[in-house]
Amino acid sequence: MTNTIEQKKKPIIIIAIVHDDVTASARKTIYADYFYPFITELESFTGRKFHVIFGKGDPYSNFDYKGSDPLKTLQKWEFHCYRYINKLEEQGHTFDEIPLVVLLTNDSLNEKTLGAALVRQPSQIGTFAIASLSSYATVGHEIGHLLGAKHEDSEVQYNGWWCETYMTPQGDSMKSNCYTYSPANRENIKNFLNSKA
Ligand SMILES: [Zn+2]
Repeated sequence: MTNTIEQKKKPIIIIAIVHDDVTASARKTIYADYFYPFITELESFTGRKFHVIFGKGDPYSNFDYKGSDPLKTLQKWEFHCYRYINKLEEQGHTFDEIPLVVLLTNDSLNEKTLGAALVRQPSQIGTFAIASLSSYATVGHEIGHLLGAKHEDSEVQYNGWWCETYMTPQGDSMKSNCYTYSPANRENIKNFLNSKA
């Protein structure tokens, strides 16, 4: 007989709102193409479960995400996210998980911005993000930001070809995606999650 009670670590729930402009064909494989690689990666080193629920409906899935100032866009998106979380709570969702909310879009926010995450200073963590599906690594990149991963800790790795880890700020078309976080970013994410129940 043992007296130790294992404390279950809180799971993370990613609420993914699919924008109306995402094509029907992209929707079919959205979890396999954009979530599965980074979810399995995160679960492998954090010891937590990551759940994903997909959402839609106005004014969330027709949110105007394009513009030259991603910070302004994110601040408007944050307001919608709180409303969406409230709506889920009214429907009986109790949030025993740590919630993150991401808007999945077909296009980029502007010519330079494939995605954006609203991170607080100085902790550099957050809850709300927008990610274009035009690159396979962007959802994992923005979720990485919300969990405390940083550009400066990204790296180029070699796995038969040069690849870039999730937090690489600008993709080099000559390199592939590693679909991993660098060891330093794994530590950043673990440190943040260790501060949570
Ligand atoms: Zn970034």
